[in-house]
Amino acid sequence: DQSIRKVSGSLEKNAHAQISPQPLTSFTQLRSKHGISRRLAENLDAQGYTEPSEVQMGSLPLLLGTDEDRGLNPERQERSGTETRADIDLLTVAPTGSGKTLGFMIHVLHGLLRSRQAQSQAKAGERSEHRVQALIIAPTHELADQIVNEGRKLASGTGMKISGLRKGMRLHPHLVSLKDGDALKHEKSHTSGGHNSDFLVKTDIVVSTPLSFLHAISAEEAGPAPLPDIRFLILDEADVLLDPLFREQTLGIWTACTNASLRTSLWSATIGSSIESLARNFILDRRRNLGLTSST
Ligand code: ADP
Ligand code: MG
Repeated sequence: DQSIRKVSGSLEKNAHAQISPQPLTSFTQLRSKHGISRRLAENLDAQGYTEPSEVQMGSLPLLLGTDEDRGLNPERQERSGTETRADIDLLTVAPTGSGKTLGFMIHVLHGLLRSRQAQSQAKAGERSEHRVQALIIAPTHELADQIVNEGRKLASGTGMKISGLRKGMRLHPHLVSLKDGDALKHEKSHTSGGHNSDFLVKTDIVVSTPLSFLHAISAEEAGPAPLPDIRFLILDEADVLLDPLFREQTLGIWTACTNASLRTSLWSATIGSSIESLARNFILDRRRNLGLTSST
């Protein structure tokens, strides 16, 4: 199935020939071929990244696509007759230290910047507000913090906001205590204390552990609320997130992401065959349930 792609990478340089039909050979191609914003390109440059790592070479062309791939349709879905075709989801396997974080950050930031650009052309003059559209799940708070830090450097000056989830942050207005009316206006209101201090986080990209995220979207007894706005779901250390310890939480979050245009990518150093087939089957089941057809 061509709509679920797998990319592998190593720590070696110049080993990219076998991993992608058209690997990314330099970061300048991100702008010339894949149309990333000037600011994003400058931020990459400012961090001293000159050459993409092998896993970035393999995954970014698949994730970003080119203007030709997209044709006249700026959104990633193609409609043929009444069928809606699912775009690719990606499994990426490459060792620790091979630059997976930068790979998915470029993907997410570019995707959000592109749709913001399309929206602001549609309704010129309207200030876009922060709305959670991308979710990055990692197994530990420490890893989540590292992802936030790396993401902020890359997002600097683009207007995109990245936040790690902290205790008391909620993603749904109806889950926030309205006792203090100002809680909705200030992202950082009362960060400590009891449940009455819950506040609505206003951000574009959320980075979280599975449990914190479930807390942020769940009411006491009703369970997780659906998240139709989320269009990018990143599972970092996906082998751990789909391990029995986290599996139920991770799949619960994935299920709550009800947007038909959701694009999921899984990133890990290794992936066992049973975890891989679990992920593939989950993706196919999800598409079937949403009435999407996979391209072949
Ligand atoms: P992984 O998640 O694959 O284990 P990381 O994303 O944590 O790896 O990246 C490891 C290190 O490599 C980080 O310090 C990161 O800044 C650096 N790095 C990532 N991409 C590149 C690149 N293209 N060129 C140079 N350094 C890079
Ligand atoms: Mg990593």
